[in-house]
Amino acid sequence: MRQFLVANLIRLSKSVEMHANGEAVTAKNVDLSNCDREQVQFSGAIQPHGCMLVIELTSLRILQASANCADLLGISFEKPGEKTLADVIPTRVEAVVSRLSTENLDNGPVHLASLKAQDTRASRPFHLFGHRCGGAMILEFEVLPDEDGWPMLDLYSDLRATMARLHAAPTLQSFFDFAVAQIRRFTGFERVMAYKFQEDGSGHVIAESIADGFQSYLGLHYPASDIPAPARRLFALSWLRHLPNADYEPIPLVPELSPHTGAPVDLSYASLRSVSVMYTGYLKNMGVKASMVMPLMKNGALWGLLACNHESAPRHVPFEIRMASEFLAHMISLTMSSKEDAESSDYRSHMKEVLERLMRALHGNPDIHAALCASPDANIRHYIDAGGAALITEGQITKFGETPSDEQLRELAIWLAGRDELVVANDRLAEHLPDAAPYVEIAAGVLAVRLSKRRPDFVMWFRPEQAHTVQWAGDPAKPVHIDESDGSVRLSPRMSFAIWKESVKGRSKPWITCEIEAAADLRWGIVDVILARAEETELVNRKLREVNRELDSFAYVASHDLKEPLRGINHLATFVQRKQGDPDQHIETILKLTRRMDDLIESLLQYSRTGRVDLMLEDVDLGALVDEALQMLTKRVAESGVVIRRSVKLPIVKADRVRLREVLVNLISNAIKYNDKGERWIEIGIEREKPVTLYVRDNGIGVDQKNHAKIFKIFRRLHGRDEFGGGTGAGLTIARKTIERHGGRIWLTSTPGAGSTFFFTLQEEERPPS
Ligand code: ADP
Repeated sequence: MRQFLVANLIRLSKSVEMHANGEAVTAKNVDLSNCDREQVQFSGAIQPHGCMLVIELTSLRILQASANCADLLGISFEKPGEKTLADVIPTRVEAVVSRLSTENLDNGPVHLASLKAQDTRASRPFHLFGHRCGGAMILEFEVLPDEDGWPMLDLYSDLRATMARLHAAPTLQSFFDFAVAQIRRFTGFERVMAYKFQEDGSGHVIAESIADGFQSYLGLHYPASDIPAPARRLFALSWLRHLPNADYEPIPLVPELSPHTGAPVDLSYASLRSVSVMYTGYLKNMGVKASMVMPLMKNGALWGLLACNHESAPRHVPFEIRMASEFLAHMISLTMSSKEDAESSDYRSHMKEVLERLMRALHGNPDIHAALCASPDANIRHYIDAGGAALITEGQITKFGETPSDEQLRELAIWLAGRDELVVANDRLAEHLPDAAPYVEIAAGVLAVRLSKRRPDFVMWFRPEQAHTVQWAGDPAKPVHIDESDGSVRLSPRMSFAIWKESVKGRSKPWITCEIEAAADLRWGIVDVILARAEETELVNRKLREVNRELDSFAYVASHDLKEPLRGINHLATFVQRKQGDPDQHIETILKLTRRMDDLIESLLQYSRTGRVDLMLEDVDLGALVDEALQMLTKRVAESGVVIRRSVKLPIVKADRVRLREVLVNLISNAIKYNDKGERWIEIGIEREKPVTLYVRDNGIGVDQKNHAKIFKIFRRLHGRDEFGGGTGAGLTIARKTIERHGGRIWLTSTPGAGSTFFFTLQEEERPPS
């Protein structure tokens, strides 16, 4: 009775599973007619704790039988089709046949009958299971295990209590800790482990319950190859795989091939199916004598395994306890999915909260580094689970936790910028960027979001090499039962762990989808704020331009109007001087001052004109323009005896010809003026092609670094009024305004006493030097 209760519960839980997946388990993944599978299920042999008959569906004639039938069932089969099921279980055949017609036998073995000793010719009890494969029926007669040594359980109430506690487990870890402990209590196995598979097929032990004195495998990682794809597919097919004795002798089916199809029978679902020698070898290397494995499924895919091992002796688990375990595994699968989703949704909502705080900080603080890095509760460091994080903008770096050095970060940023992706998630950086190899221990993986199109500005998170972060809790030096004679030594926990470590060298824990999405969300947030700020700046700039224009027109009108009375003073003073006949010191001074004032007003007029008048852009041959400028300075060049050196070939640029010539005239005349050497020279040439950078170099007096900014300010001179031929101090200011209106930049390098070089560009540069 109890066993039917459990069987019904299992059916119920399976239908829940179907519902949860939104896809019927029976659809294509449990299609027994499809025998085109891997080799393991075509082994044509079974384990010896039972025997097997393959019978014809309608006639019940026996087509194939395992070679141990004579021993176990007390009947032998010489020729296919010669005997029927009635010859094997004469008294129960009708009851079994009626169940065959009512049960759905396509989803794997169904318990058809508990046969008593008197029901068989060998006078021993069996559990009889049956399922369909193609046109045939596979019947499995499983012998009953010893009665002794099984935990006393009231399965129904025990299961109910267990389920309630599993549901209440607060975390996924506590859930699994309890689940493995309960399965061990139900089955009495010495070791019960929960494995979880990773995306690359490797897996690790996430929970374990062991008998006293056993070595723990908790935390053990093993490579994907330890459970090959065909084995994984088979695990996903049936809810329980039991191997009572790993050291068994396989029993062949006779005849080997189906008389109907001429091919081996597909034993994928048969619970007695002989398992792969790889698997028994693995178990033997681990010192395991009996095992039971149940898959953990999530959304129709294999998520992990519940593995039970017995090391002291073979262990044949009774059918009822297997049913209870299977039911539990079902429920664990279902509950685990929602628990895991809940855990990742906790992580997601954490990231959402931090993102909101980061955005608020960013809106309130124009300094992006202060906004994203300064406060403990709004900080990129806590946004995504990583070993370290860094923010790089315009060459400025803020770091947290374990990160590469500033120099390495800059190189990494340049490499990332070259990849043309806005979000980069990489868990094996050194494979793509060999320069990253020295720092795999802190940044084997990087998640990066790009903040600027033109500059290598990034937010980055780093994860260390996984092999460094995972240590197997077990003692790797302690030998486990390894048989080195057959070369299968590779399949042992210790070696598996070593192989796994080897296979994940240079790799970090992978970045998961919600982390990559969160990184992208942060990027959008930052870019939005930067754009909004750029718009504000543009608005302010526009206003500034208007004000500047007004100032320029004011300066123009004012200087223009000032010229009028100045001219009057000048005429008057000249008139008085002429009338007096004798030169008068005071009048001389008035005249000199009016000339100086006139110069100043003229400079102011020229400056304001530079701001007001639109540029007339055209293709300008720089070589010809330098010639023109030198032409205009012929007299000064000749008088000073300066030697002019210049590049033969200068490029063509887009510029306002007249304005640019003014700039050249100013730079060259300054280079002539501010020189006290006996042999003076000036060199004119191109420093860089892109963007075109022209320079005018001299061997003059030079400019002290502290005055570099000053000399571009209007009316600022570094010398006495009459030294070096005088001047108003407006030339470089006007030159700078002209250059900036072209979109370029003017600057100088100089060694005081040895000379100066003035450079200028006419368009925006890719990356202004920081
Ligand atoms: P001005 O030549 O009329 O004084 P500028 O604006 O052209 O005005 O130059 C500003 C100041 O910068 C000059 O007074 C001079 O002190 C300094 N200066 C300009 N060019 C040179 C140069 N080639 N070498 C040294 N000093 C220079």
